[in-house]
Amino acid sequence: MQLCDLTIHQLKSLLEKKEATAEEILDSCLVRIQAVEPKVRAFITVLEDSAREIARAIDKQGNYQGLAGIPYGLKDVFCTRGVKTTCASRMLENFVPNYDATAVSRLIEAGAVMVGKLNMDEFAMGSSTEHSAFFPTHNPWDYNRVPGGSSGGSAAAVAAGEIPFSLGSDTGGSVRQPAAYCGVVGIKPTYGRISRWGVIAYASSLDQVGVLTRDVADCALVLKTISGYDPLDSTSINIEVPNYPDSLQDDIRGLKIAYPREYFQQGVDEQVKAAVMQALKTYESLGAVVDEVSLPHSEYALPAYYLVANAEASANLAKYDGVRYGLRDFSAENVVDMFSQSRAQGFGPEVKRRIMLGTYALSAGYYEAYYLKALKVRRLLKNDFDQVFENFDVIAAPTTPTVAFKIGEQVGDPLTLYMNDILTVPVNMAGLPGMSIPCGFADGMPIGLQLIGKPFAESTIIKAAYAFEQATSFHLAKPALGVK
Ligand code: GLN
Repeated sequence: MQLCDLTIHQLKSLLEKKEATAEEILDSCLVRIQAVEPKVRAFITVLEDSAREIARAIDKQGNYQGLAGIPYGLKDVFCTRGVKTTCASRMLENFVPNYDATAVSRLIEAGAVMVGKLNMDEFAMGSSTEHSAFFPTHNPWDYNRVPGGSSGGSAAAVAAGEIPFSLGSDTGGSVRQPAAYCGVVGIKPTYGRISRWGVIAYASSLDQVGVLTRDVADCALVLKTISGYDPLDSTSINIEVPNYPDSLQDDIRGLKIAYPREYFQQGVDEQVKAAVMQALKTYESLGAVVDEVSLPHSEYALPAYYLVANAEASANLAKYDGVRYGLRDFSAENVVDMFSQSRAQGFGPEVKRRIMLGTYALSAGYYEAYYLKALKVRRLLKNDFDQVFENFDVIAAPTTPTVAFKIGEQVGDPLTLYMNDILTVPVNMAGLPGMSIPCGFADGMPIGLQLIGKPFAESTIIKAAYAFEQATSFHLAKPALGVK
């Protein structure tokens, strides 16, 4: 085991005991990055020099509170001052923001060491990171498979030992799904828990920042650091943030866990089903009360999601017109051609597909038939969850219907690709907190257990996740990588 393979809490204890320095930890990560990047390709940008400067400064101070001296990476959707922020799009290939996203500012204040920016599906639209305008990322468990998406770089880098944690964004599953495919822990908290300021928008009513780590304790620590009200984001909620690490208790006797029958149908792989059922048995053995429930509107979640998400995306992406920033086609002869040629060149095919679908759904004459209907379905989905949460503390289900698929296998078939999100999008539609933790393997690939909580009850799902982790060892498995 190298330093780069350790968890944040293990690294913190080495730092505090002066058994390692921040610079040594960084070096270990950089060595791993150099070794595996030709195969994994998780990073769009590596910031060796600035990372070393920060690590040295932390070592000089010798104060290892919070996340001081811990390396991390950011999905390239987070604005970073002075550092290229591409959203994996040609449109923003040369975009250098002059400010940091709030979540990033909080990590900087906590002394964490930013190592680089991570690959993703263009504008966070996708489930495999194959829609990056630059290159696909590979799953460290099997380089021929996708890492999931859209935060595929964030999950792959953590799984491959390149960085102990990363941030992603989750609009319909983009933190939980890649976490499941790469065998790491991923949390998408309640909508409004973490500021979205400086996170390039995809679908504003669904987008939420998420955290990817190697275990639940690390997840609690990072979540605590970046959560909380931000006057710069009017949708961030001004309520107290609990100290999530206090929820790392393994006594869950009496915890009421529901599993929705609909989440075990709809093409869910038998091995995935079996692993999640086994996890429910583990919960029972720990003293939890487990029962089956129904979320009757689940089958409408995916179509409704793709209407809402694309409608909002079409509005959010209207600003990339080549005028203020982003790619501009200088060959155009007039301003209207300049708009359309810049957009034609700057956006990839999936982004264009979504802008067209979204614009159509919002157009006069179709608005009521599609967008308004989707909003009504959204309410029904939320009501389904509310009803279950009258009697239960946590909902448990698979994170994804299958394990990671092969690169190239689905990319030509948008609808099949969209199906990967079928078990994660309802959580975003309802604004709830959701988490994925490793719960088994099928064909050598990790399986994710999804835990869903009541609004702002992140502590409850963290507690449930921690208890499971204490009772099992799936989170300790590491991919072979095939490098030194
Ligand atoms: N795969 C889903 C989509 O493409 C979710 C993406 C996300 O959560 N950013 O919309």
